Order: sequence, then structure tokens, then C-alpha cells
Amino acid sequence: MEKLELIKDYAKTLKLNYLNTNASNLIEDADIKDLSYQDLLLNILKNEIILKETKSQERLLKNAGFPVIKQIEEFDFNFQKSITSKQINRLIELEWIDRMFNLIFLGPPGVGKTHLAIAMGLKAVEAGYKVSFVSMDNLMHVLKTQDISRKSKGKVNSILSSSLVIIDELGYLPITKEEANMFFQLISALHEQASIIVTSNKGFEDWAELLGDDALTTAVLDRLVHKCELFNMTGKSYRLEHRQSIL
Ligand code: ADP
Ligand code: MG
Repeated sequence: MEKLELIKDYAKTLKLNYLNTNASNLIEDADIKDLSYQDLLLNILKNEIILKETKSQERLLKNAGFPVIKQIEEFDFNFQKSITSKQINRLIELEWIDRMFNLIFLGPPGVGKTHLAIAMGLKAVEAGYKVSFVSMDNLMHVLKTQDISRKSKGKVNSILSSSLVIIDELGYLPITKEEANMFFQLISALHEQASIIVTSNKGFEDWAELLGDDALTTAVLDRLVHKCELFNMTGKSYRLEHRQSIL
């Protein structure tokens, strides 16, 4: 086999994708620019790392399952005054994820709960953490169907192996007793293993009615609130205030 082909072959075996794809160009380029051996090796290794990091970011982002992309930088703290940019800037250092703290965003529709949850998740992905976003509705679905659906099983496994799990919209849809139990099991499994972000339009006082059982609600809240930052968001709906019209 020609040497160039061998280089590509070895690169492929070692999963050095940058070298595998660019071997011939790299060698030609080094000849033309009269690069030193050191520079050539540095160039290859550096680009190999960049390629691996980009691929890993893409995987983490895809796996996270964000419904839309929302950035902290787009958040208007003048509109939403119950949370300060100083608090958020502290949170985007992500120390709370390493310490397995939870974040809870409570408040009426449109105040930016989901926006902040996604934006925080995105920062975590950028920092290399495994994140899973799931709506409460979808969470119930995947938990119930994990034994009969590979897709659901995959999502549950992904949630259980994440460093940050975002559960969005607790309280919008009623849940059954069986579902409340599954929810408790999940929170227990994640407790002290991962950070959790929960958004809800219901205050804690309404969670018992929502989960249909006082003891279970206490047990869920106990685990969630044990190490947690709680944001009670108030104010008007950003959607209603910034209503767009096409006429
Ligand atoms: P919630 O989850 O509290 O119901 P969302 O986070 O979904 O509300 O916000 C509704 C819409 O308004 C989204 O498009 C979001 O990006 C936007 N939004 C909400 N609050 C703000 C804010 N303070 N600054 C910028 N955009 C906001
Ligand atoms: Mg929301």
C-alpha cells in the first residue's frame, strides 16, 4: 500500500478523523510552506482536538433536546425584575452543577421560565456537561412507554446519565397517581446524582393537589429543595406585552 494510504488507514483505525480526511493536503501544505516536523505535528494534533470538541458539542446539543434555542444574552432583565442579571451571571459559572444544586423557576405563563431554563442548559452544554431537556408531559410519556419503546428507553437512559436534567412545565397538565409515583421515582434517582431545573406555573402550595398525594409531594419537594435556588418570577407575560401582529 502507498504510504499516504497507510497513513489514512492508521488514522482511521485510531479515529483521527482530521488526519484521515486531510492527510494529503497536510503533507502538500507542509512541503509548500516548508513547515518543521514540530509545526506539522502540532497542526495535526491541534485540529484533531478542535474537531473532536466540535463533534462532542454537536452530540451534546442534539442529545439535550432543546425545543428552541434561547440565550441568556437575549434575556431582558429590565422586563423581568424578579431575577437579576447578577444572579444569572453567577449561575452561568455553573458551580451549582458541580455541587448538584437544583434550580426552580416558578411563575405565571410568559415570564421567561423556559427561556432561562434553556439558556442555562445551553451554557452547561457549552461547558461540556450532558444535559437533558424534557417537558413534564413528555417525561410522563417516556417513563410510561420505556418498556415498549426503544426511543422512550433511550430518552430515559439519557436523562438518568445527564449532569443536568431540565423538567419544563410542571403543572400545566393533570397527572395520574401512577404518573406522580413515576415522577417521584425519577426525582429520587436523580437526587444527589444530577442537577435538576424545574419550571412550573404552580406554587409549591399547589403541588400536593397536582401530584395528588401529600406524602409524595413532601418527599418530592424535600429532594428538590434540599439544595436549591428558588426563583419566584412575577410580572407580565413577555408574549402578551410583545405581541406581534401581521396586519
Ligand atoms: P414561560 O416559560 O415563563 O411561560 P417563556 O420563557 O416561554 O415563558 O417566554 C415566552 C416568550 O417570551 C419566549 O419567546 C421568551 O424568549 C420570551 N421572553 C420571556 N421573558 C423574556 C425576557 N425577560 N426577555 C426576553 N425575552 C423574554
Ligand atoms: Mg414555559
